[in-house]
Amino acid sequence: MSEQKRLLFLGAPGVGKGTYAGPLSQLWNIPTISTGDLLRANVKKETELGKKAREYMDRGALVPDDLVTQMVADRLREADAAEGFILDGFPRTLAQAEALHEILSRQDQALTGVINIDVTRDVIIKRLTGRRVCPQCGANYNVNTNLTPKKEGYCDACAAALMQRSDDNEETIKKRLQIYEEQTAPLIDFYRRTGLLRTITALGEIDEIVGMIRSAAEWKQ
Ligand code: AMP
Repeated sequence: MSEQKRLLFLGAPGVGKGTYAGPLSQLWNIPTISTGDLLRANVKKETELGKKAREYMDRGALVPDDLVTQMVADRLREADAAEGFILDGFPRTLAQAEALHEILSRQDQALTGVINIDVTRDVIIKRLTGRRVCPQCGANYNVNTNLTPKKEGYCDACAAALMQRSDDNEETIKKRLQIYEEQTAPLIDFYRRTGLLRTITALGEIDEIVGMIRSAAEWKQ
């Protein structure tokens, strides 16, 4: 029997955390919990949380810790997360990392690994400006990499017209990267001290990178 995986994917916006998490979620049969996706769903449904979060997201700022932490605590209590999970985009601040530790401790759980996904700033900007998403099924494409859709501008899976995320414009991207450097990058040291950190350089084919992350996550087991 394989051991439970409670993983966290760290890395700047645009390194491909969601892209790599997808196949690994399927392989291990555990959910990927993306705070960006959860927040966007709240914005779309115009919930109270969504209304509060929207203005921060549109300008590339972080949504306040208490709002995001409560949302994650609720999500981690759902049944499908009991056997493990991949966290994508959370924690993004030291306060969130400490809150996560508390939330998991209360459930007699702890993280089993932290995967730090690393690429250069040039690659990140190229990936983010080229990213296109399907508003219907959520599939991701990229016009600057080999992840282009078969028919330009349309989703392969459901044929809906692809869109660009409102925060994937150059000005907001720069702001998001600056916030990453200031607030999220310190988590690399924080998790290095716990002995859980593994760093992956995300260059190459998606399958290869997924394989490297898999080996890093299964290390020691
Ligand atoms: P992402 O899809 O991970 O790039 O997140 C998109 C936006 O959602 C970010 O730029 C933030 O505004 C917000 N967001 C996502 N996760 C968090 C988090 N852990 N803490 C604060 N804000 C977040």
